[in-house]
Amino acid sequence: MRFALPLLLFAAAAHAEPLSPAARLVGAALVEGRAFDTVRSLTDHVGPRLTGSPGAERAVEWALAEMKRAGLSNVHREPVKVPRWVRGDESAELVAPLALHLHAAALGGSVGTPPGGLTAEVIEAGSLDELRRRGEAVRGRIVLFNQRMARSDFPSYGTVVPLRGAGAVEAARLGAIGALIRSVGTGSHQLPHTGGTRYDAAVPRIPYAAVSGEDADLLHRLLGEGGQVKVRLRLGAHDDGEVDSANVVGELPGSAKPDEVVLLGAHLDSWDLGTGAIDDGAGCAAVIEAARLIRAAGLQPRRTVRVVLFMNEEHGLSGARAYAEAHRGESGKHVAALEADSGAGRPTGFGVAGGAPSVELVRRLVAALSPLHAAEVASADEGGADLIPLQEAGVPVIGLTQDMSTYFDWHHTAGDTLDKIVPDDLALDAAAVAVVAYGLADATERLPPSPPPPKW
Ligand SMILES: [Zn+2]
Repeated sequence: MRFALPLLLFAAAAHAEPLSPAARLVGAALVEGRAFDTVRSLTDHVGPRLTGSPGAERAVEWALAEMKRAGLSNVHREPVKVPRWVRGDESAELVAPLALHLHAAALGGSVGTPPGGLTAEVIEAGSLDELRRRGEAVRGRIVLFNQRMARSDFPSYGTVVPLRGAGAVEAARLGAIGALIRSVGTGSHQLPHTGGTRYDAAVPRIPYAAVSGEDADLLHRLLGEGGQVKVRLRLGAHDDGEVDSANVVGELPGSAKPDEVVLLGAHLDSWDLGTGAIDDGAGCAAVIEAARLIRAAGLQPRRTVRVVLFMNEEHGLSGARAYAEAHRGESGKHVAALEADSGAGRPTGFGVAGGAPSVELVRRLVAALSPLHAAEVASADEGGADLIPLQEAGVPVIGLTQDMSTYFDWHHTAGDTLDKIVPDDLALDAAAVAVVAYGLADATERLPPSPPPPKW
């Protein structure tokens, strides 16, 4: 029969199930996604975005333009005060028992050395307790904190990173004149990993720098020989006070409850050594792209989806605090807040700060991601550093969990560059964020408040 085939097709089309929101979001992310282009534009055209630097201000302009390009509404900046710390020129050399260049970088916030540098014998400690046991021997020395980070994910980072935060204070208390730390990271490519450190007003501020893992191993071996090991450290770092900066915000207005918000966050600032591709350009791209995908798929959830790119996650969380402060009156209207700040690896699921009811609800909302192996939902302590002030106000927080097996190889180093991102993985990250954001913004139920974050 001549008409049989067209009729059959017509009948099939009439009864076809429409694609689910998740299928539309994931399909669009993979076929027409822009996440990689977005992070490419940020890293290639803005580059490093150290809080308080001209690069960070270019990033604010970039974010405003990029959110508008993604079709978001109400795109605006919100004021944040940030520290302006300048790295300057720096170097470290072994001067005894042999002369050798060391691979070092000041930690963020470190004071500089005198212009000629400072030279002293090195004393090693694996922990703050071990340092205290060295007592008087620390006086006049440069302390090397040498604790290896295991190749895993945040739990191991969390055990080593307190040395980066408190090392200079504890060393100075015992009379040290400078401090070095074995880079907090897992890479072995002679790259120092920077990161924030802090001082205590009651203790002298001493210069503090990271050295590569290889150089820390070398110093350890030489110290083990029992002779004198001397290092000259020259850091040009200095503080330039506080300057004005901004968080950048854009929205997809909700259809039924536009005053209720699902926040999607990432941080716009980066460290200065690389171009902040995985930390956290990828997260910025994923959350902008997630909102764009929802809009491009023709979906309008009942609640508003709000994208927030936070300034100054790395150097004191002042953007996160400024946001929480400015929106204090509407914390009850934040039905959920998600942060993407774990790199660009494939998504595996979500960590929800809360108990079984929270986990169950998110599990239901993201069940469609299980063929992508991205639907694992677990209870977590927090959703991300930028969400801590919101979590303290009781907002339910969620983090995107991802494959982080190589993240700490490059984290906070000169090697945090675009080539570390696999475009398809980032597309899936954006898709996963879009699916959970759409689900939370459109759900009839709300997540229970998250418990307060742990202190560390
Ligand atoms: Zn980060």
